[in-house]
Amino acid sequence: MYRRGVGWDKSMQMNELFRVALGLDAPWQVTKVEFSESDGKLQLWLDFPAGSTFPCPVCAKSGCGAYDTEERTWRHLNFFQHQTLLHARQPRIQCPEHGVKTVEVPWARPGSGFTLLMEAFILLLVQGGMTAAQVGRLIGEHDTRIWRVLQHYVQDGRRRADFSDVSLVGMDETSRARGHSYITLFMDLMPGHRRVLFVCPERDAQTVGFFREDFVQHGGDPDAIRRVCMDMSPAFMKGAAEHLPHAQITFDPFHVAKLAGEAVDAVRREEQKRRPELKGTRYLWLKNEWNHTEKQAEQWAAIKGCRLETGRAWLLKSALQDVFLPENRVDGPALLTKWCAWAQRSRLVPMLELARTLRRHWTGVVNWFDSQISNGVLEAINGLVQAAKRRARGYRNVNHLITMIYLLLGKLDFHLPTLSPAVTHTK
Ligand SMILES: [Zn+2]
Repeated sequence: MYRRGVGWDKSMQMNELFRVALGLDAPWQVTKVEFSESDGKLQLWLDFPAGSTFPCPVCAKSGCGAYDTEERTWRHLNFFQHQTLLHARQPRIQCPEHGVKTVEVPWARPGSGFTLLMEAFILLLVQGGMTAAQVGRLIGEHDTRIWRVLQHYVQDGRRRADFSDVSLVGMDETSRARGHSYITLFMDLMPGHRRVLFVCPERDAQTVGFFREDFVQHGGDPDAIRRVCMDMSPAFMKGAAEHLPHAQITFDPFHVAKLAGEAVDAVRREEQKRRPELKGTRYLWLKNEWNHTEKQAEQWAAIKGCRLETGRAWLLKSALQDVFLPENRVDGPALLTKWCAWAQRSRLVPMLELARTLRRHWTGVVNWFDSQISNGVLEAINGLVQAAKRRARGYRNVNHLITMIYLLLGKLDFHLPTLSPAVTHTK
């Protein structure tokens, strides 16, 4: 290929160097390298020698000659700050059996304008905490192209996801925008397997049906789901009864604690009308004592000794939290019965109502003492979802948020590309 007698041609040496660096095998070769400092671009032209043959992409029959070619360009990893573009004629072959077919190139996925390494880099940046918009700015591409890459890998990873060993499921909802429009998350709660299984941009009973469908598609057995952890929303209860009839329900004690906090706040709001010293103390009562700021600790010391209904409600809330401790595996139901009786005697209407709610959902509430499904995990996952939400903020596109959640929390296998193609396109 290189000119005899002149020695090893400089540009040939450069082309060979780039061929090796890109991991290209015959018949692909680098035919030209052009670097321009002024427009900050490194451009590589890849080609195959005349007469090269390729296997048919359908039947792998080898020896098919190029029928025609199409000029294409791919965005590759930057070399330092310089954009790198690969140019090549993508061949189509004619198979005697399958007719004219496009031959895929080893450095890119079909239809993508990025090389595989560039896509791996994009995934790495997003998983490392960058937003699609930030990645777009960094590499000088519109973020819709970044989203397309992310969505491809999430879809591809989810296609391979296997739910056959899932038996503990948590469902939870989170708002995707301030105060409205919810998404529902279904999680595998098994220690060591914790991951988001399914995200749905709604929250009603039918949501559980969508989960079930998706679960089955991924090899999951709905009858093998032994336990489901959720809050007391009627939609979840109805959905679980319809679509996961074999699962025993555990009501999330974090949700119970939240209801208790709301009850304390309701008592305070009512009492504040008569006791002005309660003004501005809302967060004092919502927090645990050990969690107070210095200023709150002072406020607390001043208000603690006062005979307040809010104080009694707060004590009830603290006691309820103590009932849901892991060591109460055996005594839990009895302690909860006592607590409900105490709440009833308190004559604090919101606490009375809470006791009634717990009694109405008794089985699911006390199931926790046995199942102890780790709702801390749910909370932690929620924390990550909040982070994902912050990252996806500004897109207002629920699909972007869902993509991000799967990307960060789905534990998907992305089959990250490397440039050592197993398939060599040669005769
Ligand atoms: Zn063929």
